[in-house]
Amino acid sequence: MPTLFEKIAAREIPADIVYEDDLCLCFHDINPQAPIHLLIVPKKPIVRIAEAKPEDKETLGHLILTAQLIAKQEGFEQNGFRTVINNGQDGGEEVPHLHLHILAGRKMTWPPG
Ligand code: 5GP
Repeated sequence: MPTLFEKIAAREIPADIVYEDDLCLCFHDINPQAPIHLLIVPKKPIVRIAEAKPEDKETLGHLILTAQLIAKQEGFEQNGFRTVINNGQDGGEEVPHLHLHILAGRKMTWPPG
């Protein structure tokens, strides 16, 4: 059964996609928590950090370098941004297909809620 994000990658569910390559996809979150809220999703449906395998190392590193690329592409590299990966119930994970949130366009607070 494909995940929600696999369906977005397959264009079965619409999304505002801003970037795609062989390993990942980046699109706007449907319920933004900041003026800019993007999700970077690996095409491989790794469930969550806790279930990632050693062979996922390249894909996981690629997500972070893609965040750098998107920050340049979308113009918020200078002002800064936050990346978040929610993991499991206490981590606030809703979609069981690993994804990196990018939040930008306002000053973030710390600690997060
Ligand atoms: P999580 O809580 O799992 O870290 O994040 C899941 C994110 O996916 C949430 O921020 C939620 O708003 C977003 N989301 C859920 N369904 C959809 C959808 O159908 N399209 C898009 N673009 N984002 C979604």
